[in-house]
Parts: sequence; C-alpha cells; structure tokens
Amino acid sequence: METKIYHITDPASSTGKAALVEAGVYIRAGELVAFPTETVYGLGADALNAAAVGKIFAAKGRPADNPLIAHICSMEMGEQLAKFTPMAQKLAEHFWPGPLTMVMPRHPLVPNVVTAGLETVAVRWPSNPIAAALIAESATPIAAPSANTSGRPSPTTATHVAEDMQGKIPLILDGGAVTIGLESTVVDVRGQYPLLLRPGKITAEELAELCGDCLFPKAGDAQRPASPGMKYRHYAPRGQVYLAQDADEAMLIAARLADVPLFLVSQETATQLLAQKIAPSRIKALFADGNFNQYAQSIFAALRDADSADEQNIVVETVPEQGLGLAIMNRLKKAAAK
Ligand code: AMP
Ligand code: MG
Repeated sequence: METKIYHITDPASSTGKAALVEAGVYIRAGELVAFPTETVYGLGADALNAAAVGKIFAAKGRPADNPLIAHICSMEMGEQLAKFTPMAQKLAEHFWPGPLTMVMPRHPLVPNVVTAGLETVAVRWPSNPIAAALIAESATPIAAPSANTSGRPSPTTATHVAEDMQGKIPLILDGGAVTIGLESTVVDVRGQYPLLLRPGKITAEELAELCGDCLFPKAGDAQRPASPGMKYRHYAPRGQVYLAQDADEAMLIAARLADVPLFLVSQETATQLLAQKIAPSRIKALFADGNFNQYAQSIFAALRDADSADEQNIVVETVPEQGLGLAIMNRLKKAAAK
C-alpha cells in the first residue's frame, strides 16, 4: 500500500482543510490514519467500527488484550461512549481538551475490540487542533494508540511514524513535532479518588489537588494489572538502556562496557562527562536546568535516533519521580527493562 504524507501547517487553511476532509473519508471508510496529538502521534480508526479497529492491532503488532483510547472532540461524543461520574465531569472541565485519559464504565455502543472486552472504556479529548479537527471531520470517535510498532519508542514526529507504518496505512497527517512527547496520563475515575494507571503530563499532584487525593495501583499484580498495557515491555530501543543518576554513575556503567556507550543526559551532566574525556560525539544533552518538559519532549526521538545509529549501549539520566519526572521515569524504566 502506498502511504501518503500530508503536511498541515494550519488546519484552517484551504490545504489543511482539504487534507482533513480526505483523512475523514478514510476514517469513515474504515481505514487507518496517523495524526499528531499534543502527546505523541496516534494511529486512528473509527472507534465504532470493529473491523477498522482490528486493523490497528495488525499494523502495530499490538496484543489484542491491550485496550485502546477512544478520542473525542465534544462531551456529547464522550457521553455516547462512557458513563461520566461526577469526578469525571470535574476532571473533564478542568483538563479537557488535554493530555488526560479517563477510564469509565462503557456504554454498549463501544465495540469489544476497543476495550479488549473490559467493562470500561478509556476516553480522551485531545487539544491538538489537527487531532480535534480530524475527529470532528470524521464525525465519529477515533480509537488510537501511539502510531509505532508495538514495543518501540512512541513517535513524536511524522518521520517516526513513517519509519514504522510506511506501506501499512494509507495516510499520515504531518503536523510537525508534538509539544509534550509522552503519552497521556491515564486515570481510572470510577472510585472515590482518581487511580493513576499511567503517569503523564497531568501529574498525580495536580489530580490530588483537584480531587483530594490520587491513588496508585498496588504493585505486584502482574496477572491482572489495573491497566492491561502496564504489563508489556514498551518504549524500548534495540540497544540496551542503562539508567544513571549522575555523571559518576554513568562513568561506572561505561567502565563495565566493551565500547563507549551513548550518553543521553542533562546539559550539566554532559559538561562533567566532557571533563572526564568522553568524546562529544558520544554525548547528547537533552535538557538543561531541570527542565522536565524539554526532557519529555526529546527522549523518545533520542532513543529512536540511537536505534538508527545502531547504538548497542545507551546510558540515560534519571530524574526525581515528582511531577512530570514520574512519567519520564515510568518510560525510562520500561525502556531499560531486560
Ligand atoms: P496507548 O494506546 O499505547 O497509549 O496505551 C493506552 C493505555 O491505556 C494502555 O496502557 C492501556 O492498557 C490503557 N487502557 C486503555 N483502555 C483501558 C481500560 N478500559 N482500562 C484500563 N486501562 C486502559
Ligand atoms: Mg503506545
């Protein structure tokens, strides 16, 4: 299959609109369209068409027991899919459109293939204008996971999507690099307090401030995880990822390896590694001054670049597990899992 890539600078321009109309036709026809969201690029299908959603699992090589997020562009659309509790209403008012996914009781309209047979459905209203326009143009909720081959780092540019999806899907909408760079925060909103299933840009601290508390799933329940996706290896480049908290630890790890690894670190750590005679070509500074937004935005691209350069060993800097740091560390730990 030939994969078309349409660059959209302004979804309201005439070329932007034409691209979105064509993308909507593909979605309505049960085909897949990759599109930018504020978190990562998504691989979308009509969420109400079971056969179309099945194509997502095939294109990604995604396990069938890992449910998808349904993306909406209005509360009316959301209410077709899920039963909003008072807490869900409140969180929607506060964080939608935006990088928050809520797990709620599902309505019968939602096909089993979207929810992997669960009684709940995950719903998000994205803020990216191309994503919102695509959903509106398609006039149906769009089921979409990240637009990567399962297990690989999530795509943050259309080029990343093309690496994994070229020839497998008819259309990629290129809206440039995403702004956040990590997948959405996922919360189960059925209980008294939000249950954080996947950390993201909307932090546990923010959720607790609004809802009185934020709960975390109990560790160790690998057979029946609260969120099925949590049990899978994710976000991993082909090389081995090692985590280091500072330049000293990075040097200790490097000393055990046969070749000099690639270092993905902060500007401050990069300066220290250079002082230890590590070649500049082996070091990539991804963020400075504790700027976690910058780190989140660049980490997946850096891991993919490491793949392209056939790096065997990659040392990545850890950050404190607070605020967005919790989401960054969640992805880094999975990337480092053997
Ligand atoms: P992705 O589509 O790759 O961003 O992953 C979506 C995440 O949301 C995965 O971790 C899924 O397991 C999780 N998820 C989707 N639907 C549900 C649901 N109904 N209950 C719990 N987790 C869900
Ligand atoms: Mg994913």
